Amino acid sequence: MTGHATGDPGVPVLDRAGEWREDPHTIDRLRADEATGVLVVRERRVPVDDGGLLLVSPADPVLEHTREWALLGRRADGSGLLLALQDPEDDTDADGSWAPRWADLREAMPVVDAFDAELLVVAIALAGWLRDGFCPTCGGIARLRQSGWSRRCENCGREHFPRTDPAIIVAVQSRDGERLLLGANAQWKGRMHSCFAGFVEAGESLEATVHRELAEEAGVRVTDLAYFSSQPWPFPRSLMVGFHATAADEASARGDGEEIIEVRWLTRAEIGTSLAGEGPVALPGTASIAHRLILDWYRR
Ligand SMILES: [Zn+2]
Repeated sequence: MTGHATGDPGVPVLDRAGEWREDPHTIDRLRADEATGVLVVRERRVPVDDGGLLLVSPADPVLEHTREWALLGRRADGSGLLLALQDPEDDTDADGSWAPRWADLREAMPVVDAFDAELLVVAIALAGWLRDGFCPTCGGIARLRQSGWSRRCENCGREHFPRTDPAIIVAVQSRDGERLLLGANAQWKGRMHSCFAGFVEAGESLEATVHRELAEEAGVRVTDLAYFSSQPWPFPRSLMVGFHATAADEASARGDGEEIIEVRWLTRAEIGTSLAGEGPVALPGTASIAHRLILDWYRR
């Protein structure tokens, strides 16, 4: 493990060392420092071992064919943390000298501590941005700057930054507070049920998105909208903003028949048994904000 949790939800545990980004020599300086930890990302996967993320030292031969470097942050002892983006076909470890277990975000989240969890999400989100070297305005080549946190187009001169797309996710309860409305998405097939979610559209507030998505997907109007928490979800670059809400017209709940094939009111007891893996529906995994929303409602 590379750090420790503060135990205070929402307070960042990873120091992103923003002021280091301004120094054009930061990446070279950290690559020359053996105290630096390097996280390799290949195809949205990272190496893990039983202790969490498996970092390598900057002199490690596996880093020879790194395509892009970026600054992830700084440990409490002042040492740096770098991301090394490699191509999936990279075969520097083809001789078997380096054969770590590769995990994607969903696989790695349950086995890492709070510090590594933050490092992991930043690395996966940033790796998606580092892969695309073309200017979205003119299609010119856009060179990385600010230790991987911006690009400037060589052709039109515009500066670009990694984008984050906001999306909402909502847990809807009945007016008596004793039942929770969940939906089965057509893509999931089977018993999986979860909270309702959708992307914020151009010119739309988070609140308006909640009301629109619930009307579209679940057929309900809601009241008592309350912010819960948020979670970066880099698939490819979402920020999930979680809410609790209460249905104003719970009898009208129905799926849209396209995205949501079924909606279902579940009692607190049914949610309890489902959380234990023995209930009428399957629920989203523990790494997701959907799981935390459902658990938060269940414990009320
Ligand atoms: Zn351009």
